[in-house]
Amino acid sequence: MNRVIQIKEEMKQLETQLEQLKKELNLLQTNCDHEFKTNNYIQECTKCHLIESLNW
Ligand SMILES: [Zn+2]
Repeated sequence: MNRVIQIKEEMKQLETQLEQLKKELNLLQTNCDHEFKTNNYIQECTKCHLIESLNW
């Protein structure tokens, strides 16, 4: 079943890509000069979309 091997290979590539994207997103959020907007129990940065919960 060639298709199975193909699918597994694709999944592996996508996982690798996902990991890279997560790292990139994390880096962007770490370096962001946040501008939070508060919304119910969370606040979200309008620039990088980082979400923080408000603990009170
Ligand atoms: Zn931000």
